[in-house]
Formats: sequence, C-alpha cells, structure tokens
Amino acid sequence: MPVSEELTIKTATGPAAHEELNPYQIARQQFDRAAAYLPDLKSGLIEFLKRPGRTITLEFPVEMEDGSVRMFTGHRVLHNRVRGPGKGGIRYHPDVTADEVRALASWMTWKCAVLDVPFGGAKGGVACDTKKLSQSEVKRITRRYITGLGDDIGPHTDIPAPDMYTDAQTMAWIYDTYDMTHPGKNNLPVVTGKPVDMGGSLGRREATARGCLYATTRALGRGLVKGLSSVKNATVVVQGFGNVGGIAAELFQESGARVIGVSDSTGAVVNARGLDLPQVTQHKKRTGAVAGCPGTSPVSGEELLEIECDILILAAMENQVRGDNASRIRARFVAEGANGPMTPAADKILFDRGIAVLPDILANAGGVTVSYFEWVQNIENEQWDLAEVNGKLEQKMNRSTDGVLEMQQRLNGSLEEISAKWAKLAQTKGVERPPITPVDLRTAALVLAVGRVAQVTLERGIWP
Ligand code: NAD
Repeated sequence: MPVSEELTIKTATGPAAHEELNPYQIARQQFDRAAAYLPDLKSGLIEFLKRPGRTITLEFPVEMEDGSVRMFTGHRVLHNRVRGPGKGGIRYHPDVTADEVRALASWMTWKCAVLDVPFGGAKGGVACDTKKLSQSEVKRITRRYITGLGDDIGPHTDIPAPDMYTDAQTMAWIYDTYDMTHPGKNNLPVVTGKPVDMGGSLGRREATARGCLYATTRALGRGLVKGLSSVKNATVVVQGFGNVGGIAAELFQESGARVIGVSDSTGAVVNARGLDLPQVTQHKKRTGAVAGCPGTSPVSGEELLEIECDILILAAMENQVRGDNASRIRARFVAEGANGPMTPAADKILFDRGIAVLPDILANAGGVTVSYFEWVQNIENEQWDLAEVNGKLEQKMNRSTDGVLEMQQRLNGSLEEISAKWAKLAQTKGVERPPITPVDLRTAALVLAVGRVAQVTLERGIWP
C-alpha cells in the first residue's frame, strides 16, 4: 500500500481540483502547521510525534452466506502510547485504507490529549460495505479480524470502540472474541461502546453528540461568534444522520435549536420551519434513507452544506468541505462531529471569511471521553448513573473548550515572539523558518495536544 494515494475531486472545477485529499497527508500538514508554534520542542521529537508507531494490516478469509469465501483487508494503527494505552474506534467502510486509519489514529492521540484523558491514539478499520453484508457475515468479519489482531489489542495496550458502520453489537462481538481467546480475567475493558447490559456505560451511545453540544454551547457562550451566544433558537444543518449526526440533531433540537436540514449517504432533506426529527428517524429506520420523509423537501448532499444557517454540524466523513466548496458555506459556525471533514484549504478559506470551526479533536471528543469513563467503570466493576456520566462529560468538554479558546488567544497574542524564536534558530542552527500567521481553533487545539504529549514524552524519557 503506497503511503500517499492522491485523490482528486471529480466534480471540482476550480484550482482545488487537485487538492491533496489523502487523510494521512492532511493530518501531517495539520501537524506541521501546529509544530511551527512550538519552536522550543527538542530537535527530532517532532518526527516521533508525527509518525504512527505501528501499522498492522491483515488479509483474512470469511465464509459468505452463499458458501463462497471472500478475502477482506483490515488495519489497526497505533499512533502513540506515551500518555496511556492506544484508544480508537473501528470503522467498516468500503473506502478504508491504511492511510485513512493512520490519520484517524493520529487524530485520536491529539483528541485524548486535548481532553486530557489518559489514552494514546489508535484506530482500526476493515474495507467492507456493511449495507451489502448479512448480520452474520459482519459477525464473522469481526471475529476473524479481532482474532487476527490477537494480543495487539488488550485492556491496557490498545482498546477499540465504535466508529462508522460499527455499533454496540459489533463491540459485543469484539469483547466475546477477545474473552474467548483470553479466558480467566476481567476482559471488559478491552473494548468500549459495549451494550449497557454487558459493561457498556450509560450515556456512551449519545456521548459524541452530547459532547459536541456541550462544546458548542460553551464556545458560543464565551462569545466566539458575534450575535450567536447560544444554541437556543439557532438554525442547524447536520450532514450525516448516524450515531453522531442523528443524535446531535435530536440534542440540539432539545436545547431549543431548529434543525432545518439533515443528510445521509443517499440524500438530504430540508424544512425551513424545522424538521420533525422523530419522523425522519422513523422514516430512515423503515426505508434506510432520510430522503422521501413526509413533510420535507429534497436537496442534494452538496446543496445541504451550502444552506444558510447558524450552525453546521459535519457528522459524516472526511473531506466534505474542501477548497472547491468552502467559499459557498453559509453557516456562522461549524462543528466537526466527524473526523477530518475539512481539508486544510477549506480551513484557510473559512478562517479568512471569519467562520469559526470547532475542530474534530475537540468537537467529537465526547465519545472517547465517555469511553474512558466506561473503561474506568469496567476496571472498578462499577456502573455510574447517567447524571454522573453526563456531569463528568460536561466538565471535561467545558474545560477543554476553554483550553483551546485560550490557547488560540495566547498564540495569536504572541506571534511576534514565536517568529523571533524562529529567526534566532535560523541564525544559530540554520533551520528553516515556518510562516507564522494567526491561528484557527484547529491549530490551537493541536498545539495544546502536541505540547502535552511532548511534555510527557520528555518526562518519561526516550527508551532506552
Ligand atoms: P454512523 O455509521 O453511525 O453514521 C454515519 C452517517 O453518515 C450515516 O447516516 C451515513 O449515511 C452518513 N454518510 C456517509 N457518507 C455520507 C455523505 N457523503 N454525505 C452525507 N452523509 C453521509 O457513523 P458515526 O459513528 O456517526 O460516525 C460519523 C463520523 O463521526 C465519522 O467521521 C466518525 O469517525 C466520527 N466519530 C464517531 C464517533 C462515535 O462515537 N461513533 C466518535 C468520534 C467521531
């Protein structure tokens, strides 16, 4: 598998037609931009923090319903374990590649550091289309993939969780497979996002969306967007109507927002007066799509992103807002429920237009935070009540949102000082001076995270 597979946007016509869309290359670009604001980092440490520590690729056979045998490819990447065991979801999607999983694993490292949960970053994925597979085929894929990973996952080494097209049922199979092959100990903490009756945490299913609501509420409450101090009465558009987006739509609506448009992989629906979300959910459950829901008008997925609204929640997948469509976004605030939904070119366009973006490593970190709570409950053989879980989640999200907003202010207030440090380094050590310009919230969050991981790396010391 080549490290970089450059993709092109088929529909793009402008200068962004050949924008880099490989998620791993994007993650590296984001990292490099953040590293420029950390001129004091020990030389060479940057490379260690940037590269994934381990990439496992498995090719394995699965017996299909018709008796034939099909090969599947799965990956598990451990990016960094300095701050604790690797943590990250498992995704089942036809487009899964080793590079995508590398990017997602590195974002997990930074997310856990922003939230200050004691985990490192990891991620997994199997290239498959669950919509074309039976439930028992998905179960056999899961069991075979987890068996193949063997001791490369474990309650104190690398702990999976749900991601796109995997859910509590998938996590139950993961637990069962690991427990069958590692009998005689408490294996519940090997995976999070389990069903509640077998060690899952109350509130985990809703945690990513709820965390997004808490972080958005906090950021708006601190005056991030002029004239939009709360979610109440805000108009909201949600791309992706799955675990993150579907629940975010409900929770934002419960908090007084008006959800005027939602989409899934098959289409999008709008209603300017506000969607009847229980009806949309029911329709999706019955037909597999949001499109065609009574009381809504259809629009294309691309058009949905361009609707004028207060808050746009991106909760589908990578590279949805790019150089070719970012100038048409008409939201006042964007929250990244998905991982990597915006490219660096889009980041720059939105920043220049004054549209604040709450980055993925903060906005969707509620999931891993409650996964951490689940892990603690499993180790301690406890079950916390929902109010306790949500209360702790809110505290973590608020503190982290404050930390990122304050870091942005701090960095933007010390651009000259940072530039001067690079000028000195250029003079004394001949290093190249990176451009130092005002930072957005993504770069601020990354600077916070990279600084924290670097600090612990140095405290532990480089082995041996
Ligand atoms: P999911 O499988 O439950 O839902 C994904 C939804 O996105 C589906 O409704 C699907 O139809 C829709 N979708 C896919 N492609 C689309 C497209 N091009 N346009 C519009 N909709 C599209 O997955 P999920 O768990 O909700 O994950 C969504 C995103 O959130 C992913 O980026 C994932 O990595 C991220 N995330 C998930 C969690 C979690 O706890 N599940 C935590 C953090 C981040």
